[in-house]
Amino acid sequence: MPTLPDAIAHWQDTLHWQPSDEQQHHFQRLYEGILQGNTQMNLTRITEPRDFWEKHLWDSLSGLGVWLRADAPLPEGWPTQPDLRAIDIGTGAGFPGLPAAIALPQWHITLLDSTQKKVRFLSELIQTLGVSNARAICDRAEFLAHQPSHREQYDVALLRAVGSAVTCAEYALPLVAIGGVAILYRGQWSEAETVQITEAAHQLGGSLLAVQPFKTPLTKGARHCIVLKKQRRTPDKYPRAVGVPAKQPLGAVVS
Ligand code: SAM
Repeated sequence: MPTLPDAIAHWQDTLHWQPSDEQQHHFQRLYEGILQGNTQMNLTRITEPRDFWEKHLWDSLSGLGVWLRADAPLPEGWPTQPDLRAIDIGTGAGFPGLPAAIALPQWHITLLDSTQKKVRFLSELIQTLGVSNARAICDRAEFLAHQPSHREQYDVALLRAVGSAVTCAEYALPLVAIGGVAILYRGQWSEAETVQITEAAHQLGGSLLAVQPFKTPLTKGARHCIVLKKQRRTPDKYPRAVGVPAKQPLGAVVS
């Protein structure tokens, strides 16, 4: 099996954090598990060690920098408890949630995906890796967010490559407890999107807390983390029925 770079200097320079030997070992085993799973199903096209490190591992943790660095206080408005409950919505092969579970072992992380096959794979991978703070569940965000045992029960929601930002906000904010945050992993970002997401967040009981721009350390790709803060209870009607948040994003003109 190919070996991942340890990239200590890149971790330090960008996130002011570096994995312990045990975490590096877990990252390597995660990589091997995904390569193995890729022989059975389509999990990812990013398989070269440096690509996997940058586009899956580093990218997954880029949105969590405020919690990873030990040398600075959390900025105003971010949840501060050490044992946060997080949900990765549309986790696919486990990104960003699985690297997050490895890097933040005191968190409790739920990996959510609507594809049964991927969830079965993730449950087995979690067992194999011995990552005891993660669990994988199969459901649609539109259903899960109406279940009392999940609605407004998470301190942090993570979403990468699941749909438009406004659609992601409608999946995420109903699941986030008041005081918690949703982190949307985006590539390019525009002023027009800022206006749209601010309005959508407001309808869902939230507000825009931060737009964090950065570049990936190896290939200098543009990334933005959009952070939404949950301020008030989300109206019961959200998220709307399956498929509606994607087909009719909040704020879109319906003719
Ligand atoms: N987040 C991963 C990543 O960045 O590598 C996977 C992204 S993949 C393009 C999108 C995933 O979201 C798919 O695995 C799909 O099954 C899942 N998904 C899409 N809509 C969903 C929904 N409404 N509820 C739960 N999962 C959903």
